[in-house]
Amino acid sequence: LPRPLVMIPGPTPVDPSVLAALGEPTYGHNQSAFVAVYRRVLDRLRRLLDADEVVAVGGAGTLAMEMALVNALAPGDALLVVSHGVFGDRFAEIARRYGWRVDVLSPDRPGAFVAPQVLASALAGGAGRGGGPYRAVTVTHVDTSTGVLAPVEAYLPAIRASGALFVLDGVCATGGIAEPMREWGVDYLVTTSQKALGVPPGFAILGLSARALARREALPTVPSYYADLANWLPIMRNPALYFATPPVNLIVALDRALELIEDETPQERFRRHERQARAVRAGLDALGLSLLTAAEAVAPTLSVVRYPDGVEDAAFRAGMEERGVVVAGGVGPLRGRVFRVGHMGQAGAPEILQTLAAVESTLASLGHRVELGAAVSAAQRILAG
Ligand SMILES: *Cc1c(COP(=O)(O)O)cnc(C)c1O
Repeated sequence: LPRPLVMIPGPTPVDPSVLAALGEPTYGHNQSAFVAVYRRVLDRLRRLLDADEVVAVGGAGTLAMEMALVNALAPGDALLVVSHGVFGDRFAEIARRYGWRVDVLSPDRPGAFVAPQVLASALAGGAGRGGGPYRAVTVTHVDTSTGVLAPVEAYLPAIRASGALFVLDGVCATGGIAEPMREWGVDYLVTTSQKALGVPPGFAILGLSARALARREALPTVPSYYADLANWLPIMRNPALYFATPPVNLIVALDRALELIEDETPQERFRRHERQARAVRAGLDALGLSLLTAAEAVAPTLSVVRYPDGVEDAAFRAGMEERGVVVAGGVGPLRGRVFRVGHMGQAGAPEILQTLAAVESTLASLGHRVELGAAVSAAQRILAG
């Protein structure tokens, strides 16, 4: 098989040393050598997430979203969802499936964010019709469908004042953008392995605050077995215990990936993501391409790009793939109207330049007027510092 450069918003490029770790023997999950690695991974995650506790289990990011809600909400509770696209809406779909009341706040156009005052007045008003205050509020740090980076810090005063449990979806952010759980008062930080952490898919990760732990203790039971924190917390505290078999190979790979992040240092990694995102945007701009996302909402981890007139989605992405680069199409109502480029995790300057070169040459081959080299040159100037 050819080895294309995968520049979609997850899975992201995986470092060869992480892939090599994945290929280590499959250890017994209770074997002492493995338990030591598992324990170290959980410690590394607690540090990176700035969490009081973490729960990491086999599954996709969607499972981590569901775990947060299942362990926060009781029958009759109401949830407020701040939705900037498909992944924000997903929280509302999960809530409806379990029968919790849910209200959704959306911006007036895709690519914008919900104004902090709008969130503040919704939280202050409560769930309406005598519904009382919201039990929890969800915010998607970066919504991967629209590329919107939520103005989390501007939301914090209203969330704090409301007393609602704060669920932050960091799936397209954690490891690429700072998310200080304690400082921000996040109760559930939802994330997964295959985005800015740079590990293959398969691991659902949840950072928890003391308040989130107390909330689970206050609930007599929750309407899920596998997603019940009460089943997992003993294992997180003592990984020699068993509840359900953990993805052992993936845990060994995650250990290596988290070591890479620690060696780079999270602060430098966040700065690198900012710089690389500016380089991508400068490159796209040099080709006359525009982003779907409002300028004040652009994210460091991916770019969502409008197709220029006359460039068709399937032909563009096929052309990119012929040049060895995989980018993603639009999802939901944006299908066919945009393409999405991930630039997070281990993707660095060489990958970004290769991607921009492929965009130039693909557009040229489709009859779109571009100056070859313009995007690469604009990005180089920023990557060089
Ligand atoms: C990818 C993504 C998800 C879903 O993660 P899966 O691992 O595909 O279930 C949820 N939220 C955001 C913001 C994402 O980018």
